[in-house]
Amino acid sequence: MAEPLTKLSLATIYFTERCNSRCVSCDYWRHGRRDIELATVQQMLPGLRELGTQTVLVSGGEPLLHPQWAEISELLKSSGLNLWLLTAGLSLAKNAAEVAGLFEQVTVSLDGSTAASYSAIRGLDAFEAVCAGIRALVREGVPVGLRVTVQRRNASELGDLVRLARKLGVGGISFLAADVSHGEAFGRHSEVAEGVALRPEDLPVLVAALDALERDHGDDFDSGFIVETPAKLRRIEAHYRALLGQGEAPPVRCNAPEHSIVVEADGGLRPCFFIAGPTQLGEAGLSEGLNAASMRHLRADIRAGLRPECRHCVCSKWFST
Ligand code: SF4
Ligand code: SF4
Repeated sequence: MAEPLTKLSLATIYFTERCNSRCVSCDYWRHGRRDIELATVQQMLPGLRELGTQTVLVSGGEPLLHPQWAEISELLKSSGLNLWLLTAGLSLAKNAAEVAGLFEQVTVSLDGSTAASYSAIRGLDAFEAVCAGIRALVREGVPVGLRVTVQRRNASELGDLVRLARKLGVGGISFLAADVSHGEAFGRHSEVAEGVALRPEDLPVLVAALDALERDHGDDFDSGFIVETPAKLRRIEAHYRALLGQGEAPPVRCNAPEHSIVVEADGGLRPCFFIAGPTQLGEAGLSEGLNAASMRHLRADIRAGLRPECRHCVCSKWFST
């Protein structure tokens, strides 16, 4: 069994499972119903304090759909926590000032560089609205980053996305492979829809896009505007190759469950985005659920490399201590 956690750098809280996007890679928008209760967040606060948590990543679903998103965020902020918002950005334009007042940083998921590719991936004709929201937020002075999940329909657009990020005035852009390996993550009730993972004939398209990024955007890598290194971006290619049986999955190094927790909208606790947890936020608060024997066993299995979810993980994270 893993030792109890006495420190927790990051807590991710799913404000809601509902979403107003229609992404092909996710099922929250189909099945998501639950919103987190203000009382649940209140119950968590002493635990966050005891564990020295500094940052809360506010996620979902689309967190800005929660009718009390501002009130809950205010509660967290007034408890001394730094808030980081992960949003699809559909309502950013109207909420920009309030978001800027509450969040230290905002990451907007933007998977297409044109209205057509955006709508093919996210299922909505909302590219211009999201770009307007991002510009509004940038004008408010809050640090904004873009996050792109690289998949079949945008594999050729990596350079265009970097140029769009520059035009929008954001502070950086980050790329990761779309998750297609976990049937249970992202509110899924079944396998990931067709059209997300790369086919063999898409691999050369991705390789050409990565080559062009390295050739044309050296300054953006050097300055950190593109958050990943070129080598890390090549892992996206290796990831999709492995899914096609054309090589080994890139090695995963991750200690996220030792330093962070994901709290679901119903108070369920997960060691990370991709692995379901055995415990709930109880009456006794966060530490009890985090350090229950079942959760410690799960963390030990993850650390020992026994969980299949880790093998094709697109979002492994190493916290340096
Ligand atoms: S991936 Fe994110 S933005 Fe897209 S439907 Fe799922 S929760 Fe919403
Ligand atoms: S590698 Fe991925 S699935 Fe495994 S613990 Fe880390 S985040 Fe979770």
